[in-house]
Amino acid sequence: MEPVRKLAIVTCMDCRIDPAAAIGLQRGDAHVLRNAGGVVTDDVIRSLAISQCKLGTREVMVVHHTDCGMEKITDEGFRAELESDTGVAPNFPVGAFADVEDSVRGSVRRIRESPFLPHRDAVRGYVYDVATHELREVAVD
Ligand code: ZN
Repeated sequence: MEPVRKLAIVTCMDCRIDPAAAIGLQRGDAHVLRNAGGVVTDDVIRSLAISQCKLGTREVMVVHHTDCGMEKITDEGFRAELESDTGVAPNFPVGAFADVEDSVRGSVRRIRESPFLPHRDAVRGYVYDVATHELREVAVD
């Protein structure tokens, strides 16, 4: 296994995003954590804690994107759909969002506020445009 530099990336599972190409990464450059929306869930905090405490990463990039499927559903609607289809209410938050920049800001703040992460001073958020392939930074207070 090649050594990872100091970066972890949290991004959406959307197949239009190629993190290596979008950010200019080579093998060994970053831990890439992907889920629906690239939202910072408890499991993302778990992986970042391992990444930082045991594997040496120091910086985090949160990369959400334009035209995300998570903007096209609601938590309530999708939860009801799952419960209707299966008879079981899901025990997890869906993480849908209405505004991609707000979602980036919320995810960055969640990382910056986590007591389990020793390196929280270099956490930045971005929106990747799936049409132009541009990566735009989102200001987070
Ligand atoms: Zn997405």
